[in-house]
Amino acid sequence: MSVIYRGRFAPSPTGPLHFGSLVAAMASYLDAKAHRGEWLLRIEDLDFDRNVRGADEEIIASLQRCGMQWDGDITWQSQRTTLYQEALDKLGDHVFACSCSRKEIADSRLRAGLEDNQIYPGTCRSGIQNGKAARSFRLRVPDGEAAQFHFKDRLLGKQDQDLSSKVGDFVLKRADGFWAYQLAVVVDDAAQGINAIVRGADLLDSSARQIYLQQLLQLPTPSYLHVPVVVNQTGEKLSKQTGALAFDKGDNDLMKDALLPAAEFLGLQITSGTHDLPTFWQEATLAWSLQYLSVGHRH
Ligand code: GLU
Repeated sequence: MSVIYRGRFAPSPTGPLHFGSLVAAMASYLDAKAHRGEWLLRIEDLDFDRNVRGADEEIIASLQRCGMQWDGDITWQSQRTTLYQEALDKLGDHVFACSCSRKEIADSRLRAGLEDNQIYPGTCRSGIQNGKAARSFRLRVPDGEAAQFHFKDRLLGKQDQDLSSKVGDFVLKRADGFWAYQLAVVVDDAAQGINAIVRGADLLDSSARQIYLQQLLQLPTPSYLHVPVVVNQTGEKLSKQTGALAFDKGDNDLMKDALLPAAEFLGLQITSGTHDLPTFWQEATLAWSLQYLSVGHRH
């Protein structure tokens, strides 16, 4: 029996769905549909400082209004923290407690003549300094050859990252007590049986960290496809705070103002001029298959 494709859209509820997040939602949805697979919805609400009250419900309503129906129950990461603790425990000695503040990390890199770019200098790798308290928990990344990670993106082809020089020992549980995205996303994708990840290219850089965590936790690695990120005129990624194109407030044309532009951004040819949601999704799924399912041979 072949394994069913299972993808997901995993928005952080930091604001309503905007054009950039619609593109990510559409890409993951269409890839699932093109594979006759499932598409799950997971609300990544672990950063309580950035969560905006009610944004999750707004995102859910927008997806529904766009005719994007998810499979199964919606999950909220804030209700799954036991799983993250279990994973942290399982990682054992790969994890170490760290007492450094951001400023201390920046200062010690400057002292070592390194650029002040927040790559962790390894200060607490072999224990916290006397008299200091643990603030965060970090994952020890491998040194030397073992730090080289390679994976294939279905769209962008072969990717390489040296976890040691480009990332450093990264945080799994933050000083403010919040679970870090990298750990939670790996735990949840595996727990939910996600085997295909389609998301914005701003997360390409996180993939090697996630693959390393999957290996340590003995979890399968899904396939990856990173779609281009929507940027504004000054080249910045649209954020829910700055890029909100309030496309679903009811006073504009959902198809003309949101769905067709998002499809066009993804390079999909929708020529029929339909205003009917099911027809749009049917055409978009076909266009996605033509555009993205045959790209494997490009690389
Ligand atoms: N929650 C992340 C975001 O909204 C996406 C995570 C992912 O797709 O891996 O940017």
